Amino acid sequence: MLLGFLALGERASTAAPPADATPPATVVLDPGHGGSNGGTRGHGLNEKQVTLAIAHQVATRLRAQGIRVEMTRVADRTLTLRQRVVVADKIPADLFVSIHANASPTRTQRGFETFVLTPRAVDIDGRALRSDTLTTRPGVDPEIAHMLDDVERGSSQWEAADLAMRMQQALRDRRGTTGDRGVRQDSQHVLLGATMPAVLVEVGFLDHPVEGKELADPAVQGQLADAISSAIIDQLAD
Ligand SMILES: [Zn+2]
Repeated sequence: MLLGFLALGERASTAAPPADATPPATVVLDPGHGGSNGGTRGHGLNEKQVTLAIAHQVATRLRAQGIRVEMTRVADRTLTLRQRVVVADKIPADLFVSIHANASPTRTQRGFETFVLTPRAVDIDGRALRSDTLTTRPGVDPEIAHMLDDVERGSSQWEAADLAMRMQQALRDRRGTTGDRGVRQDSQHVLLGATMPAVLVEVGFLDHPVEGKELADPAVQGQLADAISSAIIDQLAD
């Protein structure tokens, strides 16, 4: 593209889209685990396989609606939490949705829950982050960039809570109300450095004798993908 413009003797800036063009909404899908990190296990499946299968189906549904989708991984690949956040921050994304499957010590629990991911970077290790060379705002003074990040994190919490509630509603509609474990927030679910609204959905318990088998079923995976994508589409339309 660029070569074509140069050949025509045009300046690179003329290649910019018109000012009134709205860029497509961008969602980062994060299939939990991957590579050497298999996650939980049940019914001959690793969590990393289930999360990837569902994420691919969610991506297809979102793209069909004109939504831009980036995935933190598209294959069986080991990723650190940091690498997942970097994918989301560099775009930058409008929403970040991490997909997981659960397990319980007694193998008796079942149901779905959505965590609001708290980007408590400043509280936890502000100094370490401030010395981080990674920046989501190239060309902006680092101190100002961090301040803007803090402001964005505050408002993104509200949006994340909204999305989490929609996620639970969409899952209830398709999987029944008895499985609803609700919206949660805790210190275990932190997405360091992220500034966009971020949630983590646990679609069900892979080690449950009944639910685990269902999660391995492509038709149920499609049902879960329907729920997750419809919650995202509703959130972006608001
Ligand atoms: Zn997981």
